[in-house]
Amino acid sequence: MRRGDSKLSAWTQRTAPGVAGLTPYEPGKPVEELERELGISGAVKLASNENPLGPCAGARDAIIGAVAGLGRYPDGGGYHLKAVLAERLAVAPSQLTLGNGSNDVLELLARTFVTPEDEVVFSEHAFIVYPIVTQAVGATAVVAKARNHGHDLDAMAAAVTDRTRMVFIANPNNPTGTWLNAKRLRSFIAALPAQVLVVVDEAYFEYVGLPDYPDCTTWLADFPNLVVTRTFSKAHGLAGVRMGYGVSQPDVAELLNRVRQPFNINSLALAAAEAALRDEEHIRRSVEINDHGLRQLILGIEQFGLEYIPSVANFVTIDVGRPAAGVYAALLKEGIIVRPVAGYGLPRHLRVTVGRERENRRFLKGLEKVLYGGGTE
Ligand SMILES: *Cc1c(COP(=O)(O)O)cnc(C)c1O
Repeated sequence: MRRGDSKLSAWTQRTAPGVAGLTPYEPGKPVEELERELGISGAVKLASNENPLGPCAGARDAIIGAVAGLGRYPDGGGYHLKAVLAERLAVAPSQLTLGNGSNDVLELLARTFVTPEDEVVFSEHAFIVYPIVTQAVGATAVVAKARNHGHDLDAMAAAVTDRTRMVFIANPNNPTGTWLNAKRLRSFIAALPAQVLVVVDEAYFEYVGLPDYPDCTTWLADFPNLVVTRTFSKAHGLAGVRMGYGVSQPDVAELLNRVRQPFNINSLALAAAEAALRDEEHIRRSVEINDHGLRQLILGIEQFGLEYIPSVANFVTIDVGRPAAGVYAALLKEGIIVRPVAGYGLPRHLRVTVGRERENRRFLKGLEKVLYGGGTE
């Protein structure tokens, strides 16, 4: 036992309600950590749904340009970024809430609106941050059964009671890559009681090219209880700067702003995000590379005869046909980092982020070796 452990255990009796029962979020293993552990180089990380291209040149330049100003506090209100975002989304700047990643906005929403007496509804296999923020505020999580691994909106509607304060929906969802079409999602939201805040998490919005995939920011005028969250971490390739945002009615944003830390976003992130919004070509290229890469991965998976959950995002979740923990560990030894998703109720699946062609090939080779012992070359 290390010194301090006994003190820690006494503190577990003294946490805010819900906190002692939390399990820490497990991030994808950093490349550097694996390389250090194995004494190798050139490991491939396809574990955190990051854009393999990284940020656009404009965002890189903007960060360098902002360095000289780092002695000053950032503009906590994010005036310039909000102006550009508001124009893009055709909303007012007062409808925007900037966060240290969209996870920050999700947490702000729970802290602002959810009390220990309330219930929060989300789906089985939904993004893990929803149960974490729910439990951290001491509220009760109500988990609706999934259908074909995706959100079952009928089951979610049936889970709503007069104690429900918030509903989380990821569209598309992580880690399943499943999505909801405009018609079904809209009628679900329309049927919700007015006192239930519905949070639609569109972290992968830019990747979805389907005609009946909804842009829920266009529904805000119709539903005063709707909040949409987006991020710069995925298609914009800026996961490291931590920048995300919520779009809502101004009264909701104003309340979030009371709880928000005054400097929850930093100057480099503000500069980078604004520049990233201006480079639409980078998004177009990122989406194109993703479309190719997703097809490449799926083709390989199908050739192995494995099942996968059909995905519209920048990752695919594969049923490896056996407990996935061993496959994950064996892939690590090959220098390939993917994501086990047992914590999401999917113990036989691995989530694989779409990388560059070479990285995807490396993963498929590694998987073949691990599952079937050797290659076919
Ligand atoms: C990655 C992801 C986010 C974004 O997290 P950030 O805090 O913005 O990096 C939000 N929701 C889902 C479903 C995600 O997969």
